[in-house]
Amino acid sequence: MAEGLIVDKLLLKVDALQSVLNEVGAYIYTKDVHGSYTFCNQPFLKLFNKRCDQVIGKKTGHFFDLTSTDKLCRNDQKVMRENLTLETVDLNGVKGLAENRIFKTIKKPLHDKQGKVIGMCGISTDITDQKKQDIIIKEQKHLLDAVLDNVDAHIYMKDSTRNFRYVNRKTAEFIGLPADQISGKKDTELFSQKVADSFWVADQKVLDTQKKQTVEERFINAEGITNYYHSVKIPYQIDDTTSAVIGFSTDMTEFYKLKEALQKQANTDFLTELNNRRYFVDHAEREYFRAQRHKLSMAVITLDIDNFKLVNDSYGHPVGDQVLIALSTNLAANVRSEDILSRTGGEEFSICLPETNSKQAMVLAERIRSLQEKQIITSVQGDKVQVTISIGIATFKPSDSHFDMLFSRADKALYRAKNSGKNRICVAD
Ligand code: GH3
Ligand code: MG
Ligand code: MG
Repeated sequence: MAEGLIVDKLLLKVDALQSVLNEVGAYIYTKDVHGSYTFCNQPFLKLFNKRCDQVIGKKTGHFFDLTSTDKLCRNDQKVMRENLTLETVDLNGVKGLAENRIFKTIKKPLHDKQGKVIGMCGISTDITDQKKQDIIIKEQKHLLDAVLDNVDAHIYMKDSTRNFRYVNRKTAEFIGLPADQISGKKDTELFSQKVADSFWVADQKVLDTQKKQTVEERFINAEGITNYYHSVKIPYQIDDTTSAVIGFSTDMTEFYKLKEALQKQANTDFLTELNNRRYFVDHAEREYFRAQRHKLSMAVITLDIDNFKLVNDSYGHPVGDQVLIALSTNLAANVRSEDILSRTGGEEFSICLPETNSKQAMVLAERIRSLQEKQIITSVQGDKVQVTISIGIATFKPSDSHFDMLFSRADKALYRAKNSGKNRICVAD
C-alpha cells in the first residue's frame, strides 16, 4: 500500500476521532508534565473563547482564577506524580465568565511506550445546571416536608397492595413509629385487622373508581375513646403499574363533641335537664307514625302544676324552680326508658308512652299524682311547700291523622281536670 494512502487513512481516522471528541459534550484536554496544555477539544475553546493556538503551550492560570488554578494544578500534579486516576467535583472560577461553574472531572496520567508518565488528560463535564436543579429539588422537598409535617392533618400514601408509601409526622406519631419505619409496611401490620379494614374501605373505593372520596371515619383508641375524622382520599398513579391513594384526614373529634353538646343543649330544658318541647314533639311524632304503621297502642300524658303562680308569689321564684326540679326528678324516676318525658311549658310536662293503653297510662298517672300530692319541699328559708298536679290522658285512635290531634286531646283532658277541681286525672274520649 502506498505510504500516501496510509497517511490519508490515518488523517481520516484522526479527523473522525477529533469530531467525536468535539461532540461528546465534555471538555477534553491534555497537559504535559509541566502543566502546559498540549491538546483541547472544541467545547474547551468555546468555553474560554480562545483559538487553539491561544491554548496550546499555556498553563492553567491562563484560564482560571487564582484559587481554582491552585487547586487544579495540585490535582494535575497528584495525577502525574502518583500515576493515578482522580475524580473530582469542583467549583471553578473561569476567567471571562460572570459566575463560577461546577465541573465533574476525571483526570488520568498519559504514558509513553516505556510506561513513563509524560502528561495527563482530563475530561470535565459542566454539571452546574444539574446541581442547581438538585438544589431546587432539595429545597422543594424541604418545603414540602415542612408543610406536610406541620399541617394539622394525617397525610399518607398507600398503594394498591395496602403498603404505606408515605406518612407525614402526624400520622407517624399517631401510629407510634418513625415515618421511615412505616413506609413499606402494610396497614394490617400497623393496625388491627378490623381497624385496617375499616380504613381500607374508602381507600379501595378510590382505587376502584379512580375518583376522589370524602368520608367520615372513626377510630377507637386503646382507651376506648372514639375519634372522628373527616377524610379526603384521592387517586395517585405512582408509575405505569402501581396505583395508590393519597389520604388527608382531619381530626374532627372536638368538633363532633361540640356538635353533640350543642344538639343536646338545643333539645334540653336548662332548669330541669329534661327534654324540651321541640325534642318531645319531634320524637313523639315518630312514635305516633310507628303506632300508626304497626297498629300499636300509644298514650300521651300531659300534666300541669296547680296554682303554681301562688307558689312563686308566696315563696319566691327560686322556690318555684325548686318545685319544678323536684317534680322533674319524680317524673324521670317513674317513666320507662322508652317513654319520652319532657318539660313542654313553664309548669307543664308531657310524657309520650309507646305501646301503652289508656288503663296502663292511668296507672302511671295516678302513681305520679299521688306521689306529688304527698311530696313536701323545704325551701332554703325553711318554708314547707306542697303542690298538686292535674293530669290529662289521651290514647292513639286510628282516626287521628296527626300527632297534634292526640296531643291536643290530652290537653283538653287536662283542662277538664283543672276545671273540675284540680289534683285529678281526666282521660280524653
Ligand atoms: P293553674 O292551676 O290553673 O295551672 O294555675 P297556675 O297558677 O299554675 O297557672 P298560671 O298559668 O296562672 O301560672 C303559671 C306560673 O308558672 C306563672 C309563671 O311565672 C310560672 N312559671 C313558669 N315557668 C317558671 C319557671 O321556670 N320557674 C318558676 N319559678 N316559675 C315559672
Ligand atoms: Mg298551672
Ligand atoms: Mg300552665
